[in-house]
Amino acid sequence: MISVEQAIAIVQNNSSPTQSSEVISLSESVGHVLYSDIVAPINMPPFRQSAMDGYALNTHEASTYTLTGEVKAGDNHHPKLNIGEAVRIFTGAPVPDSANAVIMQERVSVNNSQLTLESKVSLGENIRPLGEQVSKGQIALTKGTLLTPAAIAFLNSLGLIEVSVYQKPSIAIVVTGNELAEAGQGLSHGQIYESNAGMLQAALKNLGYLKVSTYKVADDYSKTLNLLDRVINSHDVVLVSGGISVGDYDFVGAALQELNVEQLFYKVKQKPGKPLFFGKKSQKTIFALPGNPAAALSCFYIYIHIALEKLSGNLNFSFTQIKAKSVSNYIKKGDRGQFLKALYSNGKVEILDGQSSSMLHTFALANALVYLPETADSIKTNDPVEVVLLPIN
Ligand code: AMP
Ligand code: MG
Repeated sequence: MISVEQAIAIVQNNSSPTQSSEVISLSESVGHVLYSDIVAPINMPPFRQSAMDGYALNTHEASTYTLTGEVKAGDNHHPKLNIGEAVRIFTGAPVPDSANAVIMQERVSVNNSQLTLESKVSLGENIRPLGEQVSKGQIALTKGTLLTPAAIAFLNSLGLIEVSVYQKPSIAIVVTGNELAEAGQGLSHGQIYESNAGMLQAALKNLGYLKVSTYKVADDYSKTLNLLDRVINSHDVVLVSGGISVGDYDFVGAALQELNVEQLFYKVKQKPGKPLFFGKKSQKTIFALPGNPAAALSCFYIYIHIALEKLSGNLNFSFTQIKAKSVSNYIKKGDRGQFLKALYSNGKVEILDGQSSSMLHTFALANALVYLPETADSIKTNDPVEVVLLPIN
């Protein structure tokens, strides 16, 4: 059995960006990754801009200036300033060619058309130079850049409306289990309501993965084989829930083997989520998750999220891990690494009661997982612990 750290490394090393790109509107692009370099079509800023409300000066030695006019944001006129002259100017307005500094209004006194500087001014002060952020023809953002709100705004500021991005993977969720009933319908004795499909779909939606289809299959070998064959052919990523343990009615492992899915690992030395499977079939990525809901969701945040980001071209991605002070005591049993459902706030973290891998109730109250490595045996109040913050809001 491999360790958590080995399993994460195997996922990272076997998830490379798709070769497919698509052109999408910038307004739809948040969370996507640039597929090619973006060359600036204009200078940014496109003219010398005032960075302050104040006065543009054609400087001289003396501290008095003659005020000759005004330029406000959006104006398209070019007053000519002789040496010793000034114009009123506002933030974002074009600085006249003959001005070589802008002094902020708090540092002058004005008497009719005479301006007196109350402090020294230096050349270029408060003027944003033409092309200060990027010059026309230069690379504005490189291939591989994640489109954050700031990156989108920067590209908008260059007048762009579309971008070429890595395609996000299409994802199939397959839930297995004879006991699963659909919410909204009656529940016979022995049945439970199916909840993993909606859980994984919501987790995916939270992270911007929207090309998701869900399927359900009974604990039946040939039905499982046929469905998995179909969804592996028609999707980039397949997430199977349940049927991957060692019970007599767990058919997912055998079906994946028959379909020639290459096993990269099966079973991780962790709690919850020991029977996690990760494999590839040519470019397709397959995860089989334990059916216990809290185990499946832990595996999603620790392994699947990384794979999806890498497939989408986001090579710098890693989940958010911090150190925090535990406000709980916890005694670890066994020698597996553990992910404990926890509530983090203001540098402190509480390990919640009810850590069994079926305990969705506990997970519903959690915003973090405390990671206890294999070698740890207990946590005492005030101990610093590793915390994975869940990307849930
Ligand atoms: P399995 O991994 O198939 O052995 O399932 C482990 C546990 O998780 C069993 O108690 C199942 O009933 C439960 N389970 C499996 N799939 C789901 C599901 N989709 N929704 C809710 N619980 C499930
Ligand atoms: Mg099952």
